[in-house]
Amino acid sequence: MKGADTGRLGLAHVAKLHAYSPGLQPSGPGWVKLNTNECPYPPSPRVAEAILREVGAEGAALRLYPDPASSALRLAVARLHGVAGANVCIGNGSDDILNLLVRCFCGPAAAAGFTLPCYSLYPVLVGIQDCGAFAVELDRGMRLPVERIAASGARLFFLTSPNAPTGVGFPSSDILRILDSFGGILVVDEAYAPFARENAVGLLAGHANLVVVRTLSKAYALAGIRVGYALADPGVIALVDRVRDTYNVSRLSQAAALAALGDPDHHLRVVSKIKATRDLYIKMWSEGRGWFTFPSQANFICTEPRDRGGRAGPAVARQAFDFLFSRKVLVRHFPSDALTASFLRISVGSDDEMLVVDHTLEAWLKAPQSA
Ligand code: PMP
Repeated sequence: MKGADTGRLGLAHVAKLHAYSPGLQPSGPGWVKLNTNECPYPPSPRVAEAILREVGAEGAALRLYPDPASSALRLAVARLHGVAGANVCIGNGSDDILNLLVRCFCGPAAAAGFTLPCYSLYPVLVGIQDCGAFAVELDRGMRLPVERIAASGARLFFLTSPNAPTGVGFPSSDILRILDSFGGILVVDEAYAPFARENAVGLLAGHANLVVVRTLSKAYALAGIRVGYALADPGVIALVDRVRDTYNVSRLSQAAALAALGDPDHHLRVVSKIKATRDLYIKMWSEGRGWFTFPSQANFICTEPRDRGGRAGPAVARQAFDFLFSRKVLVRHFPSDALTASFLRISVGSDDEMLVVDHTLEAWLKAPQSA
């Protein structure tokens, strides 16, 4: 094989893929990092204690494989949501769960659907599986096109609620209408639901075609630990269990997640602080600056900057993004989606971080290029 073009041996649909492009993870110091919706506050102090306990003296416990079923964590998640252990599957982050769902339900003759905009991993997973894709476009009103989703013919439809990257939460009554008329699996990706007014967990009873996906990355401040989960009918969970990696969640991750779920007071304090900061800045940017800002129910704010001349648009958003970047303030701009190209998505940070963002946006407005 010396000198051979081994890439040529890759499957044709894989050779054409574009990998998911995650937000930048800068390595140097001094960044205000508000681009990947991480939690600005640390996890419960019980998490670090649990990890140290799990490592044990000289790391002895690390010789051993983890519990392949994450049994204790499954039960803790089940208790949290008032469902049975058979309704829960734990993943290596919720990305793992989303990937497994596509593997279980989608293929050349079984299309996946999603809204546009949505969490941009879904089209990537669809590309990997080489299945058909059905996209339902949203507009600024962000009303859920219930009938179009129900009639999509997709085997599985991904709905991010609250939506990413706008942050708008869809009413449970609309989700219920989809469930009652859609012939496929509806996956409600609730990565941001702990920050929202409503969620779909209560719809699980009586709707075997609903899968709710959650993560501990955001509201439990554990993005580095990689734990997410699915809540669904036991039939769906059994399928997912069949295709997942045997040891998909490490010992340390299982211990950390259990500790985090065991400290609900810490979790609720963090969530309510983030919601208060979010609501304050939505008000400041929409009413104070007059920028169109989605009524986010998530831990980020999607706002449409206007330059000093009152202009908005993709070029203005890019200019604001670049200015913030030059001042080491990292946010997200999604230029390839028509609805969000003129917006910036800014994760809700600590009070200090939000002050820096706001002051830097003020400086951008005063800078000569925004004239
Ligand atoms: N779903 C949505 C809507 C997200 O925004 C993200 C994180 N970017 C995920 C899922 C993945 O989260 P995790 O860290 O659990 O893989």
